[in-house]
Amino acid sequence: MFLRQHENKKKMKRQTIAINTPFERRDTYGSLNIPVYHTAAYEFDNAQAMTDAFTGKVLEPDYSRVMNPTVTHLENKVKALTGASNVFALNSGMAAISNALLVFAEQGRNIVTSNHLFGNTVALINTTLARLGVEAHTTDLTDLDKVREAVDDKTCSIYLEIITNPQMEVADLRRLSDIAHEHGIPLIADTTMIPFTQFSAKELGVDVEVVSSTKYISGGGTSLGGLVIDYGTFPVVNERIRFELLFNLGCYMTPHAAYMQSLGLETLDARYRVQSANAIELARRLKNVKGIRAVNHIALPDNKYHELARQQFGDTGGAMITIELDSEDACYSFINNLRLIHRATNLFDNKSLAIHPYSTIFGNFSKEKKKEMDVLPTTIRLSVGLEHVDDLTEDITQALR
Ligand SMILES: *Cc1c(COP(=O)(O)O)cnc(C)c1O
Repeated sequence: MFLRQHENKKKMKRQTIAINTPFERRDTYGSLNIPVYHTAAYEFDNAQAMTDAFTGKVLEPDYSRVMNPTVTHLENKVKALTGASNVFALNSGMAAISNALLVFAEQGRNIVTSNHLFGNTVALINTTLARLGVEAHTTDLTDLDKVREAVDDKTCSIYLEIITNPQMEVADLRRLSDIAHEHGIPLIADTTMIPFTQFSAKELGVDVEVVSSTKYISGGGTSLGGLVIDYGTFPVVNERIRFELLFNLGCYMTPHAAYMQSLGLETLDARYRVQSANAIELARRLKNVKGIRAVNHIALPDNKYHELARQQFGDTGGAMITIELDSEDACYSFINNLRLIHRATNLFDNKSLAIHPYSTIFGNFSKEKKKEMDVLPTTIRLSVGLEHVDDLTEDITQALR
């Protein structure tokens, strides 16, 4: 049974792979779920076996800062689902982003990116990496001429998010990948907004995918996690993360988080179907609600990027909606009046969540910087959960009254 699953892997559909990827080694007790190997170190039979593991001649766990069987199982599941050459599970989305960028970044080189990025990614690039002498060439990634102008012989990567948040901007991945490859550099994409079970970043020319698995994958928002999904086009990714950054930065995922994220991955497809359907239905209904000036969801036909998003990511548009209210005060009272939807950050929890990004996630950015980033004081971000859409509509309507 064990081997048969392994051999048939290629023919299986994603839902099946997500729950049937075999363990690297059969558990002694035949445990159906991957055991949580809560250990720092591993014992060896002899000196030679120790040498082989410590020098990387064989990939065997020796110390859980760099390898752990529970984490490896999660990595193998993601590998089977994406067709990646290597997957690294790290302890947050930010760890995945910083590791992926640090593979290529060097003093005197630059990253071509946009300022429509997750707040901490903006800070990582503009503060932490800037201090180490890595520049940001910030441009409009939806304008290919501008991208060509921004890339020079010191550029080390092009970095973007597939659907920016809260602006909901979508760039053409294939075209950006072509530009990157003409210059011999990788396209690195944060794909947190649409699960990798819904589309193939590899087919769109992405070299390295980074994901905050805190979001869709963990499911109930149980744990932090990040994934670097390496498609093998730049061998340096595997070399540097596996043999350098895991050791030196110490960002590897913990076994307990990997266990929960592994379980989350098993139900990802089922949850995503409900959440993305809820989101589009809610977006349609909210269009006619008094007090809401605009509703933004990538799968609404009036969204500027609707067609490009559909071509790249398929028919679903994820479970994030933004709504525009009349004023910042209206946003505050809306947040205060919610009874069912939770006042919290995070995305793609089982529960619906609402936040006013302007005063929270971007609360410490200057007004000018927020303007530059198109983060508006009138925007509410909703992450749509698994509740019944009637109850969500009712809560939003009463909160606006
Ligand atoms: C949440 C998020 C991150 C950061 O992930 P953490 O797991 O919180 O570190 C990065 N990118 C996007 C698009 C996110 O939504």
